[in-house]
Formats: sequence, structure tokens, C-alpha cells
Amino acid sequence: MAIERTFSMIKPDATKRNLTGAITKMLEDAGLRVVASKRVWMSRREAEGFYAVHKDRPFFGELVEGMTSGPTIVQVLEGEGAILKNREIMGATNPSNADEGTIRKVHALSIGENSVHGSDAPETAAQEIKYWFSDTEIVG
Ligand code: UDP
Repeated sequence: MAIERTFSMIKPDATKRNLTGAITKMLEDAGLRVVASKRVWMSRREAEGFYAVHKDRPFFGELVEGMTSGPTIVQVLEGEGAILKNREIMGATNPSNADEGTIRKVHALSIGENSVHGSDAPETAAQEIKYWFSDTEIVG
């Protein structure tokens, strides 16, 4: 399988509970390498832009509120089949449907406070990485 890069976020519900290290360890233990990382407190404009695909969904307001309520760790992860691997270790969007041992099963509080984000396809990974990082910030 090819070496890929994907975009990941440790969301405010998790950073507020001091879970940055615990979640990063789960990503690393799954075989993913952190090749870029920074802590941001996103503005409303940044959150709305990042999640623009969801702008007409009923949960959009709550999503933006949550994402601007505290710091987020934005990361680029690299590894074999990184996009799918990250989705697997994250677990299902709703933690009550997530498999045992996944990040969301272990740490998420609810569908709205589900601790992590991960790109779902190569195109979105490329777009999302570019939204948060310049090329020189990614060190493989
Ligand atoms: N979300 C929510 N309620 C819903 C569906 C989604 O609050 O009914 C939030 C949740 O935080 C999720 C994010 O919106 O992670 C993006 O939704 P998506 O369907 O893309 O899920 P993901 O790719 O994060 O698993």
C-alpha cells in the first residue's frame, strides 16, 4: 500500500480534558507518524470555512460552537494507507457505534463531542492539509 498523508484534528472537547498525548499515542501505536502539528484556537470564520460542506446541516451551529470553544491540535499524519488507517483508529462518528479500542470509543463524549477529526478521502486530505499548513511546516 502507498505511503499517504492525511489531516487529523484533536478537537476542543479532548484538549480541554488534557488528552492530546493519549490520543496522539493511539495514532502512533496504529502506525501513523505525526509529520506536522500545531495548536490553534480557531476563529468562527476558520471553523465555518473548514466545515463549509456541512453548512446546511442542522448540527452546523453546534459544530462551529464546539470547534471554537477551546484549542484544537491540527496534525498531518503519514503512513501506509494513512487515510483509511486513521478513520479506523478514530472509530464511528457516533461513539456509541464505535468499535472497542478506537479513539472515539475510549475518549469521545457524544456525537457532537467526538474528540477527533480525520479526512475521509485523498481529495479531502489534500484540501484539509492545505487549509491549515504550508508546505514548509510539514517535515516528513
Ligand atoms: N456531527 C454532529 N451531529 C451529527 C453529525 C455530525 O455533531 O449528527 C459533527 C461531529 O462532530 C462530526 C462532524 O460533525 O465529527 C462532521 O461530521 P461527519 O459526518 O463528517 O463525521 P466524521 O467524518 O467526523 O466522522
